[in-house]
Amino acid sequence: MSIAENINEVRQHINGYCRACNRDPSGVLLLAVSKTKPPADIAAAYHAGLRHFGENYCQEALIKQQALGAYNITWHFIGPIQSNKTKLIAQHFNWVHSVDSVKIAKRLHEQRPDNLPPLNICVQINISNESSKSGITLAELPELCAAISEFPRLALRGVMAIPEPQTDFALQRQPYRAIVQAVKAIQRPELTTFSFGMSGDLEAAIAEGATLVRIGTALFGRRKT
Ligand SMILES: *Cc1c(COP(=O)(O)O)cnc(C)c1O
Repeated sequence: MSIAENINEVRQHINGYCRACNRDPSGVLLLAVSKTKPPADIAAAYHAGLRHFGENYCQEALIKQQALGAYNITWHFIGPIQSNKTKLIAQHFNWVHSVDSVKIAKRLHEQRPDNLPPLNICVQINISNESSKSGITLAELPELCAAISEFPRLALRGVMAIPEPQTDFALQRQPYRAIVQAVKAIQRPELTTFSFGMSGDLEAAIAEGATLVRIGTALFGRRKT
């Protein structure tokens, strides 16, 4: 299947899952995760209508951004953030989904160029409490949000999570539900982006309120590494 056909199919799935839980499909943004994929694949997805692309590795993303300079793409950084990469991320992305410390937020704020709009930020939650994964606990959410909201070069937009893979639908939904409840509880109306769901748990994420789904494999095929 071509990338355009894959996009069509993923959109049909998103629309169907939305209908099943009485949600408006226009409330779910499809972010195409293009890590490891060449600029030609991004161009194909762009010509099929996608405008939002997600990358995990800074150097790799910059090369593609250069190749695709003529395209009107909104770039999302979704990978783990090393301190020495914050400057390039602040300069070259529109969104960052993986902020998990005040230190990283402060660097992004200080390094965001003045001529660009504030950098859109999602806080990453480590909901399965996996020590190897990035992200904060839900208990840490109020404090990190408060800190980010003090940085004028950043725009706090929402939360992101990558739960432990589960095959059971109810178990897939659980972590997303816990996050949505915690976000409601802290009463920050600016937290409107729920970056939930990948190729394997799209339906559960939408059922629990995802407003942005990060899809790689189902659009571009398997990654080699
Ligand atoms: C790779 C990746 C995705 C996409 O995963 P697929 O299973 O290929 O859809 C989504 N989010 C993050 C943070 C990723 O690193």
